[in-house]
Amino acid sequence: MSGFMSGTGAAKKAAQSNRGGGGRRHAEHAVQPAPAGVAQPAVCVRVALPTPRRQAFDYLAGEAIAPGCRVRVPLAGRRVVGVVIDVEPHDRHAGPLRAVEARIDAEPILPPDVLALLAWAAGYYHHGIGEVLLGALPKPLRLGRMPERRRAQHVRATADAAAALPRLARAPAQRRALGRLLELGSCASDQFAALGLDPRALAALAARGLVERVDAASPAPVVPPAAPLVLTADQAVAVAALAAAAGFGCHLLEGVTGSGKTEVYLRAIERVVAAGGQALVLVPEIALTPQALARFAARFARTAVTHSGLADGERTEAWLAAAAGDVDVLVGTRSAVFAPLPRLALIVVDEEHDASFKQQDGFRYSARDVAVKRARLRDVPVVLGSATPSFETLHNVERGRYACLPLRSRPGSATLPALHVEDIRGVELKAGMSQRLRAAIGAQLAAGNQVLVFRNQRGYAPALACAACGWLADCSHCDARMTLHLQPPGLVCHHCDMRAPVPAHCPQCGEAVLASRGFGTERLEEVLAGAFPGFEVLRFDRDVARSRERLERRLERAASGVPMVLVGTQLLAKGHHFPAVTLSVIVNADAGLFAPDYRAPERTAQVITQVAGRAGRAERPGVVWLATHHPEHPVIEALRAGGYAAFARAALAERAAIGLPPHAASALLRGDARDAAKAQSVLAGLAQAARAFATPGVRVRGPVAAPLARRAGRYRLQVWLLAQARPALHRALAHVAARIDALPRGSVRVGIDVDPVDTF
Ligand code: ADP
Ligand code: ZN
Ligand code: ZN
Repeated sequence: MSGFMSGTGAAKKAAQSNRGGGGRRHAEHAVQPAPAGVAQPAVCVRVALPTPRRQAFDYLAGEAIAPGCRVRVPLAGRRVVGVVIDVEPHDRHAGPLRAVEARIDAEPILPPDVLALLAWAAGYYHHGIGEVLLGALPKPLRLGRMPERRRAQHVRATADAAAALPRLARAPAQRRALGRLLELGSCASDQFAALGLDPRALAALAARGLVERVDAASPAPVVPPAAPLVLTADQAVAVAALAAAAGFGCHLLEGVTGSGKTEVYLRAIERVVAAGGQALVLVPEIALTPQALARFAARFARTAVTHSGLADGERTEAWLAAAAGDVDVLVGTRSAVFAPLPRLALIVVDEEHDASFKQQDGFRYSARDVAVKRARLRDVPVVLGSATPSFETLHNVERGRYACLPLRSRPGSATLPALHVEDIRGVELKAGMSQRLRAAIGAQLAAGNQVLVFRNQRGYAPALACAACGWLADCSHCDARMTLHLQPPGLVCHHCDMRAPVPAHCPQCGEAVLASRGFGTERLEEVLAGAFPGFEVLRFDRDVARSRERLERRLERAASGVPMVLVGTQLLAKGHHFPAVTLSVIVNADAGLFAPDYRAPERTAQVITQVAGRAGRAERPGVVWLATHHPEHPVIEALRAGGYAAFARAALAERAAIGLPPHAASALLRGDARDAAKAQSVLAGLAQAARAFATPGVRVRGPVAAPLARRAGRYRLQVWLLAQARPALHRALAHVAARIDALPRGSVRVGIDVDPVDTF
């Protein structure tokens, strides 16, 4: 039987008569068996199942089942839940087929447009349709359940609430909840978690008469802001261009940090929602703070939020509400790109350059690229927003495929920060900071400002060493050092999460002279707190963010504007708006400048620009301080001379000269196994197959060890495919994929990564 892709046209047709996301039934229906020998029109349904197999499976059913419906079928002695993707008359098939055991949905839960998008994604990324399709469903649906939808209750602050806010000083949870609710206007109970509202605090506020329930049977979809902003000239041009957009078109909103991209999204969405459409807003994982979400929720009464920090039930509720057309704006991370939206009219991808849009394991898709494809299939506009656009996107602008809408300045009196490059060659440093830098930080604090210190390394120190014999604390499962942590104390491998106590003596020579090497955010926190005893130092990194509650408290504390130092990783660099920050510090820019990945300059320039962009966002002008041993490095010189935009265009031209992506298409075959020799032989076989098949335009390199050659006890190898033209790459990959499918099941895991964003 041919691959599932051949069936998508038929799948579309068969499903067209069914309204996606419509009425549902709970009872499972036993499917009529097809009686043997009777001339009853039995059908063959093709079902996507939760297995890594690339193909779908055929089953027999006594009645046609529309694509997008879930069914229960036998598979290798188990009963599993799958999704029908195609239906054909049975007589086309020779050979016996097993029968569908039960039909779960009377009507499809995945509408035709989402099915088509998923089928495209499975084909483009050369991943099994089963995992792609089942992975797009919230977990309870994937397991065959159909949760009852709860009716959300809406609450809002009462008329006295604003005046009562100062009286809540001794009830911080209630004060926070009330403050957020005042920002939002009102909030539905199913959005409490997503928007950081604590239900217990709300109940306490209700008891005080500060919060009341409202009947929001039909809320006005768009809530006009209390004090609408006057758009800047660039914002107005961008809003007008988006208003004029009809049908598919991809628009890069290239706005310098703090230029007000969000306001442009909000205006574009307002139009769409007022006209009865739905908007999908994709945001990166980390930037997802309730503050950012609140801006959407405050403007659109029917906003739903979905991300991995929420419980399954909440994510399912958002998905079902979106599918039923009960939300106007769906804000979500990566996987929201596959959510059903029957009236979808606009897609926004905020911070489109962010690597978190690319799934890094299993089904390795780019949510940004899938979003563009979805917009094309639905014939609606898509907006990609960033201060530091990816090279892929800039390349598409250069080729005239995407339109560019620039926002060149910050609104009001805010200006872009000045870049100060500090040459730290031969300078004495403490946690990477010179005496001059510490003095600069002190001066800002004394003037009542905030300072942001960026370091892309969490923990206390990236290594622990013996001063006597040179022993280093290595992870026993990875080719990597253990990171020293103080809170809680211990050694942690950041690659496999192995933990070990800090040894009292060197395990190699027995001396008690172990010392940390290098510095992470915990060490910076310690040094800064010691240097500026009168000021708060707040740390932000993944360890802090393990508790959303704690992260949020710290972000709110930072937003209050009291003079303090914010120390943190990427988490701090992304999208936040801290009006009181006047100095952003990049303690050590060198690590990124000399990484072996050809994308390192792009990444480094993005990080520097994003960190810099946190400074001077309001009335107070900002400075960015960049400490480096290589002040004459071309990336730094380019940023200094013309900012990210000029750097990127020059670097893009360089990539063209050597034929690297985005001027070429690339893919990685990634393989790993406990046995290094086995991994080597399998990957070498695949590389050879790729070479034998590849047309002249395709280059095949490897297998070579991955930059992290061993992780969690598995040896990791990769083969790199590079092609001048995408169709040639995909032909070669299809060939390799067939070889991968034919590999004996077992010890070597192999995956295909199309358009890899990193080679780690
Ligand atoms: P970014 O482009 O970095 O995403 P934001 O959308 O966060 O910028 O906007 C930065 C700040 O500027 C926000 O506080 C926002 O409310 C404010 N802002 C945006 N547009 C305007 C405007 N036209 N006039 C005044 N303030 C604005
Ligand atoms: Zn030793
Ligand atoms: Zn490890």
